Amino acid sequence: MTMIDPGTVWLVGAGPGDPDLLTRKAEKLIRAASVIFHDALVGPGILDLVPSHVRLVSVGKRAGRHSKDQKTIDTLLVEAALSGERVVRLKGGDPSIFGRAMEELTACGEAGVPVHICPGVTAASAASAGLGMSLTLRGTARKLVFVTAHTKKGKVLALDWQALADPEATLAIYMGKAAAPEIAQGLMQAGLPGSTPVALVENASLENCSHFLTRLDLLPLAAKTALDAGPAVMLIGEAVRPRGKDLMADLPRAMQKPIARRAATGS
Ligand code: SAH
Repeated sequence: MTMIDPGTVWLVGAGPGDPDLLTRKAEKLIRAASVIFHDALVGPGILDLVPSHVRLVSVGKRAGRHSKDQKTIDTLLVEAALSGERVVRLKGGDPSIFGRAMEELTACGEAGVPVHICPGVTAASAASAGLGMSLTLRGTARKLVFVTAHTKKGKVLALDWQALADPEATLAIYMGKAAAPEIAQGLMQAGLPGSTPVALVENASLENCSHFLTRLDLLPLAAKTALDAGPAVMLIGEAVRPRGKDLMADLPRAMQKPIARRAATGS
């Protein structure tokens, strides 16, 4: 069975990085493609599954380093489909979560190119799984909010802090590393306690994954010291409170910093 008709585009979620978290459907589509356009976040473990006869094109974008702009990517997809290729657009995580899927769906739609989506495991799910924690808690964390803290260059982060500072919500913040100070300040000014638990998870699902538990008022320091250059997601809210413990609340203030630092080095 050919999974992809010639002249068709599939937006495929590659998941958070671990190839075992690829869906079976995504793997079949990868094998059925004639050309794959992939993001920078789609790592080697996944790309190893691409058969050698499939043309692999990196259109990777990482913060500040755009190798191809969105319009160029849209055009590449449409042109490949119109020339009869079986096109896979491979994106990190789930294509419909901060994945610019709409632009590509629209471009294909306008060109009369059939386009489909194969969902993937999003970074927040992989992060909470790695922590051994649930993103929602019955009666305590009733709401899960996916937020991006990425702004266009030179723009101020304008989020509705009042709406986000909900003690019954878990915030999953994508692309939030650079904006950590604004996030902490915005949420605390809107009434979320400084003691609210925060989990920073970098390279979720990968071998070099790191977890760092802290609290909202220490988030700016933690984001600066605990995170490296990998993709990281922040989970904020009671759902990520270390079980049975009020995080660092019982420690004298002077002791809090060394603990943050020690955890940051992973020892
Ligand atoms: N569509 C993707 C998100 C793309 S936006 C998804 O559903 O996961 C890119 C951001 O996702 C990164 O800046 C980071 O915040 C997050 N991210 C992606 N992969 C990640 C990983 N393995 N670990 C932690 N965060 C990740």
